[in-house]
Amino acid sequence: MKEEFIVALDQGTTTSRALLVDLNGRIKGMQQRPFRQHFPKPGWVEHDPEEILTSQMEAFTDLLKTHHLQPQQIRAIGITNQRETTVVWNRHTGKPLYNAIVWQDKRTAALCEDLREQGLTEQISERTGLVIDSYFSATKIRWILDNVPDARTLADNGDLIFGTIDTWLIWNFSKERNHLTDYSNASRTMLFDIKKLSWDAYLFDRLDIPLSMAPKAMPSAGLFGHLVIDEHPIPIMGVAGDQQAALFGQGCFEIGDSKNTYGTGCFMLMNTGKEPKWSSNGLLTTIAWGLDNEVYYALEGSIFIAGAAVQWLRDELQFFEEAPDSEAIALSTAKDNPVYVVPAFSGLGAPYWDMYARGAIFGLSRDTGIAHITRATLDSLAYQTKDVLDAMQRDAGTQLTQLKVDGGASANNYLMQFQADMLDCEVIRYKSVESTAMGAAALAAVAMGIWDLEQVKENKSIEQVFAPAMNPNERSSKYLGWQEAVARTRNWMAPMKKTEHL
Ligand code: ADP
Repeated sequence: MKEEFIVALDQGTTTSRALLVDLNGRIKGMQQRPFRQHFPKPGWVEHDPEEILTSQMEAFTDLLKTHHLQPQQIRAIGITNQRETTVVWNRHTGKPLYNAIVWQDKRTAALCEDLREQGLTEQISERTGLVIDSYFSATKIRWILDNVPDARTLADNGDLIFGTIDTWLIWNFSKERNHLTDYSNASRTMLFDIKKLSWDAYLFDRLDIPLSMAPKAMPSAGLFGHLVIDEHPIPIMGVAGDQQAALFGQGCFEIGDSKNTYGTGCFMLMNTGKEPKWSSNGLLTTIAWGLDNEVYYALEGSIFIAGAAVQWLRDELQFFEEAPDSEAIALSTAKDNPVYVVPAFSGLGAPYWDMYARGAIFGLSRDTGIAHITRATLDSLAYQTKDVLDAMQRDAGTQLTQLKVDGGASANNYLMQFQADMLDCEVIRYKSVESTAMGAAALAAVAMGIWDLEQVKENKSIEQVFAPAMNPNERSSKYLGWQEAVARTRNWMAPMKKTEHL
């Protein structure tokens, strides 16, 4: 009999990827296709939904071709996707009314301000776990209805439907034209009641979006439809938004289990178990996944500038050629570096939420050089992570014992050691950094009964454990320095905002 596999489709913000995973959880191949980013106006970010579809399909069919696979050898497909990005299309013709409005898009900032002024902050937080922000899908749908000719009439007639990217893919891939999403993606729309596990009719009404446009929300592991290749139907069995998929792929199944992804920004999620925990520190409450008739929740904190600060050293300050060079440069300084960099380039996110903060370097002296600033910049990723994790621990009432890491900057050993020292807990890096795709594959494999949760954990092998080695006095004095530095960046732009220099 020919070998069988699971395929993970990882539809990201810049590329569509397909990964081939064997039934022992090893990645055997990968194909990826970039697609175009559209920036029609400052702050606007769009993708062509048709291009998302073709790039994703090509990545998949090329994967089959490259590895000489018959569709019969693919037991199941798992989908993970860029979250919140929204498409509205005609349910009869399948044609999108407008480009996909991407999560980064800020065009609905004023509409969000309006919703806050209408006093919806509390209700939205209680029902959806989210803060009112243009980041989430709801105001993007509303924008399309308000701005695309005929959209409102078509929507009122019941001709239009919406979806996040998972939904768009499933609808187009499934021969049944299934209009479905999973709970993790639904929980990022700002329209989904995360406790009742249903669309919130009141919020649809307040946002003036017809409820008839919504997909059916389902658990993350289960049958979403069949993708037919050469007349062979392959079941789509697992679906989750990218950060939740990474949490699953990292094997964070117990309460308190946490992962941090060090990319351009950092995304940290903590599994909080079967009951949602509401944050009093500016974190989001979100659905991690629905599995076996149970729903698991997570607290989520985002750091806007993480690896991007390393890019800044590389591109703007031209300290080095490649981001990984930062490690050797940082290590060339003495341990007691007095410099702090606060990379609040676009304000500060959780737990500060200060859009008027701006970046700064502190503790400069005559002998400060590139190495000090580089080391302090890497340190800032660890300090920001500690800020968010401390907030999470307070909200969740649990103590972290291990942090699982992935993403580009997690390859930096200096940073990972400093992170373990700062958090006073182990930092675990696995051999495979593909947690997101592995999460989607694992959801599909679990739904098929091929793996259980233990197996998902066993599939992973540890590459390195960073154990805390800093003495408590040093830790607290360094962290105090960071807090002082952050305090001095707060509200920096406030005097200027009156003169509209913002
Ligand atoms: P994204 O998915 O957000 O594009 P990646 O996970 O690919 O990000 O990580 C890339 C980011 O990580 C970049 O911002 C880069 O500056 C940073 N980075 C990559 N390698 C290293 C390294 N060895 N040390 C520090 N930062 C790094």
